[in-house]
Amino acid sequence: MVHNVTLIPGDGIGPEVAEATRRVLEATGVAFQWDVAEAGADIIAKYGTPLPDSVLDSVRQNKVALKGPITTPVGSGFRSVNVALRKELDLYACVRPCKTYPGVPSPYKNIDLVVIRENTEDLYAGIEFEQGTPEATKLIQLTAQAKRGTIREDSGISLKVISEAGSRRILRFAFEYVRAYGRKKVTAISKANILKFSDGLFLRVANEVAQEYLGIEFEDRLVDNMTMQLVKNPRQFDVIVAPNLYGDILSDLCAGLVGGLGVAPGANVGDEIAVFEPTHGSAPKYAGQNRANPMAMMLSGVMMLRYLGEKNGADRLEKAIADVIAEGRSLTHDMTTDSASAVGTIQVADAVIEKLAKGQRG
Ligand code: NAD
Repeated sequence: MVHNVTLIPGDGIGPEVAEATRRVLEATGVAFQWDVAEAGADIIAKYGTPLPDSVLDSVRQNKVALKGPITTPVGSGFRSVNVALRKELDLYACVRPCKTYPGVPSPYKNIDLVVIRENTEDLYAGIEFEQGTPEATKLIQLTAQAKRGTIREDSGISLKVISEAGSRRILRFAFEYVRAYGRKKVTAISKANILKFSDGLFLRVANEVAQEYLGIEFEDRLVDNMTMQLVKNPRQFDVIVAPNLYGDILSDLCAGLVGGLGVAPGANVGDEIAVFEPTHGSAPKYAGQNRANPMAMMLSGVMMLRYLGEKNGADRLEKAIADVIAEGRSLTHDMTTDSASAVGTIQVADAVIEKLAKGQRG
């Protein structure tokens, strides 16, 4: 079967890590029909926007995309392409597996957990009131009239919004993920003891949804305790589900536990569409230098293969990447202590392809 996939190379180091990933995916023998869609800072002059409609149309049609990082231009008036994609396609779940491969630069071993972050609500809903504006003043007056507390007049305000429907769908997504990927436990994160009406709602819904999945272990943790527990004993966790802000912070913390951004894959998933992309950004200072680590995007490709039902190809590609890491001879500068022995993006792809070929022969 040929899989139709939208390939968005992105900008900065994006095109290099995307090309390395395309090559290793094709070397698995799984057949792809790529629809290459340009987006990002490099195309603003040509299209007048970093996100032409044709990109969204392609993803809507193919339902699966593999995406390189895209720079958020500062002060150009364009909103973030990454946020726009998530909003337009309603990709409400951000999935970040965090796994240690022997040989990665990390003091931790044998970590294998997944952070699932709600992508659309919470403090990141984008509902803000700028200091000194009539809207901010009105909200401050309304709060006082409703006897909900006193807000200083010179405050800027961002709303934390957590809905029952938004919570229910991300929590069900987490439990379904456990089922689909043979995992065991869900840990729901909140600060429900303080934020009773937003996080409290999330936690109440978490407990309700857990009742629908009685075969799956469920627990909850307060976010502050969770950061400490993750550093002390990360192996106790399996699938972690969190509202947007805590999920953002915890997924970076977990990426740090397993070797950093160079090996942190991810996906933004909705009910029908999934966009696979590394956690890292466009690292402009390395663009065009054959220096970026392509493994985070390759591991996002592994996630995509699993999503497409190509389990065998996914397992072989993951093993090939793990073998290259364990061997330690073809790693980019971010994964080596001795920079003289570091290789480039292209050479990492060559090494992974060689391992795949060896796996096929052996
Ligand atoms: P970044 O991830 O690009 O870089 C952070 C640090 O990690 C830098 O030191 C960088 O050199 C290093 N790094 C990142 N990826 C690497 C790789 N593959 N190999 C080796 N080293 C790597 O984060 P930033 O500097 O905060 O952001 C740069 C741009 O990327 C910004 O415009 C930001 O908005 C954008 N961004 C995009 C996405 C996305 O497309 N989903 C995600 C994060 C940031």
